[in-house]
Amino acid sequence: MQIGNVMDMQVKETLYHYVNGKRVEGRSGRYGDIYNPAIGAVVRQVPYANAQEVSAAVDVAAEALPGWSATPPAARAQVMFEFRDIVKKNIDSIAMALSEEHGKTVEDAKGSIGRGLEVVEFACGIPQLLKGEMSERVAKNVESYSIRQPVGVCAGITPFNFPAMVPMWMFPVAIACGNTFLLKPSEKDPSCPLMLAEMMKEAGLPDGVLNVVIGDKEAVDSILMHPRVDAVSFVGSTAVGEYIYQTGCKHGKRVQALCGAKNHMVVMPDADMKQVVDAAIGAGYGSAGERCMAISVVVAVGSDTADELVEQLKPRVADLKIGPYTNSEAEMGPLVTPDHYSKVKSYVNLGVEEGADLVVDGRDFSLEGYEDGAFLGGCLFDNVTPEMRIYKEEIFGPVLSVVRVDSYDKAVSLVSDHEYGNGAAIFTRDGGFAQDFISNVRTGMVGINVPIPVPVAYHSFGGWKRSLFGDHYMHGPEGVRFYTRMKTVTARWPTAIDAGAKFHFKRGSDDN
Ligand code: NAD
Repeated sequence: MQIGNVMDMQVKETLYHYVNGKRVEGRSGRYGDIYNPAIGAVVRQVPYANAQEVSAAVDVAAEALPGWSATPPAARAQVMFEFRDIVKKNIDSIAMALSEEHGKTVEDAKGSIGRGLEVVEFACGIPQLLKGEMSERVAKNVESYSIRQPVGVCAGITPFNFPAMVPMWMFPVAIACGNTFLLKPSEKDPSCPLMLAEMMKEAGLPDGVLNVVIGDKEAVDSILMHPRVDAVSFVGSTAVGEYIYQTGCKHGKRVQALCGAKNHMVVMPDADMKQVVDAAIGAGYGSAGERCMAISVVVAVGSDTADELVEQLKPRVADLKIGPYTNSEAEMGPLVTPDHYSKVKSYVNLGVEEGADLVVDGRDFSLEGYEDGAFLGGCLFDNVTPEMRIYKEEIFGPVLSVVRVDSYDKAVSLVSDHEYGNGAAIFTRDGGFAQDFISNVRTGMVGINVPIPVPVAYHSFGGWKRSLFGDHYMHGPEGVRFYTRMKTVTARWPTAIDAGAKFHFKRGSDDN
């Protein structure tokens, strides 16, 4: 189904970095293009920072650190309260900027900003979250306590698919913990993170505490090797994440790298098929499949389950409402860039060559008035097998694979043996299977009749295996641990009385 009208877009301004509370023009002479993928045209340019520009921003963050880390947590929390209100007030314009560069529907963009705001709300509780532990009298006159202090200058390197939410997984928690922050957002859709940084200033954040530089590998390498950067958070693809983890660790930084995924949804014969089909459509094709928690494989247990599932999915996939972000009826927009469109389409071609059954073919989809847009129709493969590359590799597009197995045990092994382990879901009415799945499946997040089990902000988000490098998940308690160092104090307080001091006031004990 095609919906939407032609938009009139023209090439616009060149973006900037944001350092020390000001917009800073790029000086490297290198620029990248930002597309509006709905029309397939470049709408603005973005400067790519070089090592000197990154270094200047890191120095600013390092200089802001002593003042900010000494600011009481309750005062830091006040900035987060203000920031939350400002983002809520401006959610429409942030969502439009996000959708224009990413392509996802405005409703979807607003939803993702809302999920980011949940982390800001979590960070508002930082005085409570930073409370340490104390033991009195570990020996005579000796007490022992643990406190958590900021790590220092933290950097965040983020992907294109959630340009508001993923930065908001990082900087609110890091800054609330007393760190200063350098964000290197995706160069494909950086307008929205730049807007958020300016809103943090409006919320009362001192200059230099949150800085944004835009760039590619050169900027990332400069961050990873800079001696004044103490911790790096990364979200993106596995190949890049592994490199960032290894390079950052080699240069003495604390690193967490959340990476690629291939999320499976197991469908048991007793599952509610209507619920399953709704879930697979939303989780497989929402945001054109460009979500790290998207369902990309449905594992049907038993051939009757598989036949019924494919029969019900086929018309729903073929009838997906595809349109530009400006169309409020669209369920799914274009892919992020023409390059990504070509990559996803070539995976569909590959699946056909590998022998999978392409039961819904969206390759020829074209949207009237948006012929140059990066719109790919929904694709559905049946009879996909574990040896196929379309099963093994992350496609990151509106392509769902159905794998058929004949037992629950085979379904769990399939999920657990995959190299990625971000999320997995099971649809069943049987508590026994659900419990077994929770205990034995090898992924970091599990859904029971919930297709995209993204944790709420006060729990932590992260995967297993090659979906995460490092020891800490993001946001929730793990986020606070990542952005703080523990210090344990053992203190003896010899009293003046023990030392024989004389007091001029009457002590209670003098009455005895
Ligand atoms: P990407 O890895 O291409 O880019 C992520 C970041 O790394 C960007 O800021 C980019 O500029 C930088 N980068 C790219 N190539 C680099 C290189 N060679 N050296 C150094 N830095 C480099 O990822 P993407 O295409 O922007 O995002 C999609 C990927 O992100 C998918 O794999 C998706 O699964 C993953 N993702 C994971 C999660 C998660 O929580 N696990 C969440 C969102 C997205």
